Amino acid sequence: MPQVSFEHIVKRFGGVTVLDGLDLAVEDGDFLVLLGPSGCGKTTLLNLLAGLLDVTSGRIMIGDRDVTELDPKDRGLAMVFQSYALYPTKTVEGNLRFGLSARKLPKSEADARVQWASDLLQLTPLMRRKPSELSGGQRQRVAIGRALVKHADVLLFDEPLSNLDAKLRTEMRLEIKKLHDTLKPTVVYVTHDQIEAMTMATKIAIMNGGEIQQFGTPDEVYENPQNLFVAGFIGSPAMNLTDGRFAVHDGAPNAVFPDGTRIDLSAYPFKSSPKDGDAIAVGMRPEHFELDAPGALPGHTAFDLRVRMVERTGSDALISLDFADDQLFVRAEPDRAAKTRAGETVPVHYPTAKLNLFD
Ligand code: ATP
Repeated sequence: MPQVSFEHIVKRFGGVTVLDGLDLAVEDGDFLVLLGPSGCGKTTLLNLLAGLLDVTSGRIMIGDRDVTELDPKDRGLAMVFQSYALYPTKTVEGNLRFGLSARKLPKSEADARVQWASDLLQLTPLMRRKPSELSGGQRQRVAIGRALVKHADVLLFDEPLSNLDAKLRTEMRLEIKKLHDTLKPTVVYVTHDQIEAMTMATKIAIMNGGEIQQFGTPDEVYENPQNLFVAGFIGSPAMNLTDGRFAVHDGAPNAVFPDGTRIDLSAYPFKSSPKDGDAIAVGMRPEHFELDAPGALPGHTAFDLRVRMVERTGSDALISLDFADDQLFVRAEPDRAAKTRAGETVPVHYPTAKLNLFD
């Protein structure tokens, strides 16, 4: 039985339908990330699960309990907000204890839980401080601690790292992941940051326009994006996508581009059966290209392409190349990029099985 399931959820605000029959389920211990651009409906979905919003129709289950009509406090959830939502007048300890105030626990049990969370999150030396005397990362740890002491079945996070600077974000990402690896709670986590999604999730639901575009493990959505939206959204730098047509040449399947460039798709693992003349888009990830192969590489498509520009970012470099009236970005080692000049022609190879074809 899934731990959290959304069953045919419809949510309307006035006349505007934001979610229109959404289905999604995750297992116990999963770390589900709801990922998508601003306005796609991910916070709405999280708030429906939390009980902060009511569904227009549909059912929300946690384990075997139908929680659709339950009060937020009766759902067995704990939530960490983007704004931390700490009480400014309470100390760290007071904030942690507040998470338990509605639960009428014996004092010894409450003490033990607060101690456990403060040890786990290294808050013990800070227990007497007020939130205004803490750094952003420390405040976020208090907010997480306040959620953990509840021993909730499901932990909800709403963009918890977006108010932190880049370095702290990386650190907190690791801490949250470590926490999940240790405690294995079921997590539903909202973000528009694909690095957070790829590094922390066991499952990602990619949303756009109130719909789930793809649901799967980080590897699945990265390696096998189901549609052009997912292909363009996941990956930084983004997947190269070039429009062309499917054509059969001498009995072999090919992708043909407007300038006549062709890719022989004989080694491509087709999942659908395009017809001669069908419009297709061909996707190639910048990091899958091979530069400097000494000759033909088995299983690869070879091109000789003219360099447009070289962009170096320090640890990494991107080379843009003319390709089929368009351009391709290829990721390269900085040393290799340093030797590359605009205007020269370079041999590049791409593993045919790693092409992504979209109709
Ligand atoms: P963001 O990353 O910007 O927070 P999101 O994916 O979380 O975006 P939601 O906040 O769920 O998106 O909003 C989804 C859509 O629903 C948006 O078009 C938004 O304008 C609309 N919406 C959200 N809350 C309300 C509301 N209370 N009344 C009317 N429309 C709303």
